[in-house]
Amino acid sequence: MQTTKTPPRILGLYDVPMWTFLEQDRQLRLQCCTDCGTWRYPPGPACPDCLSPDSDWKPVSGQGEVVSWVMFHKEYLPEYPAPYNVVAVRLDEGPILISNLIEDPAENVIGKRVKLVPVEMDDGVVLPRFELESA
Ligand SMILES: [Zn+2]
Repeated sequence: MQTTKTPPRILGLYDVPMWTFLEQDRQLRLQCCTDCGTWRYPPGPACPDCLSPDSDWKPVSGQGEVVSWVMFHKEYLPEYPAPYNVVAVRLDEGPILISNLIEDPAENVIGKRVKLVPVEMDDGVVLPRFELESA
């Protein structure tokens, strides 16, 4: 997948810290409940388990497993020319991220281990993408 720019982002109130950490530190940090340790993604105002409003932005390992993937053959955004892949990755910490594999998969990748790679696009946006871990 060859992409140089990103579509304009529409960030909600709770989305900004994740993208700021990613762009400044090249590290994915997700919201984590300070009271019970539950990861919160997408980010929000309260813990889904204990309803605590308190949280920290903790770094995640970036390791995970592909739980679903698809190749899109229709172009929806000019920044993402078809064909391109979309993957759902369950991080080892539990949250599921929707992203892309840097290289289009040549075979079924469900269950394959992946690691996060922060990729800076030409317009400066840093995207949390994934690559297959070598065996
Ligand atoms: Zn909690």
